Amino acid sequence: MNKGTIFIISGPSGCGKSTLLKEVFSHLDKYFFSVSATTRAPRSGEVDGVHYHFITKEKFKDMISKDEFLEYAEYVEHSYGTPREPVETYINKGCDVFMDIEVQGERQVKEKKPEAVAIFIAPPSMEELERRLRNRSTENEQTILGRLSKAKEELSKASTYDYVIVNDDVKRASDELLDIILKEKKRTSERT
Ligand code: 5GP
Repeated sequence: MNKGTIFIISGPSGCGKSTLLKEVFSHLDKYFFSVSATTRAPRSGEVDGVHYHFITKEKFKDMISKDEFLEYAEYVEHSYGTPREPVETYINKGCDVFMDIEVQGERQVKEKKPEAVAIFIAPPSMEELERRLRNRSTENEQTILGRLSKAKEELSKASTYDYVIVNDDVKRASDELLDIILKEKKRTSERT
């Protein structure tokens, strides 16, 4: 059986990754979204085990010591990591695996899985990103400023990704994302 493809989706907080992913998932079958572990608190509406596994710092450290993460990183005062086991299980079952992770995590996954496809979602401008982060009203001022400064750092790494999509319009950007996914899936199946 063919293995699935790993799709790494990165982009600054507030650039619309989740919206684009939700849109493309409605056109795909046999996919798995990797649920990350994080030490940050849930936002309103976030469900444990669905959006993230919300865990304590101690549990996070314990998972690192047991080598249970495919990758992990610190992002604006919190830790985030991709549990390894579900990713391996699903790619071996032939499912495509999607992970929404930041740039340090992308590097680690690419080192371990060079065949993974890395896609960067960029906001149309920093002003628009700031507007979206503020409209979301989920973070305090300090966190918003931390995330904006992180966004500049992340945007400078976008060119190292296999693809960059500017999320200027949800329909256009999700169509572009879907085209890339379908093209890469075809390439994987031709290769194997
Ligand atoms: P948020 O707190 O807004 O949900 O996520 C903050 C950042 O952490 C986002 O850029 C998101 O892509 C990234 N992130 C979420 N899960 C993981 C993970 O498992 N590993 C890494 N490296 N980054 C993650």
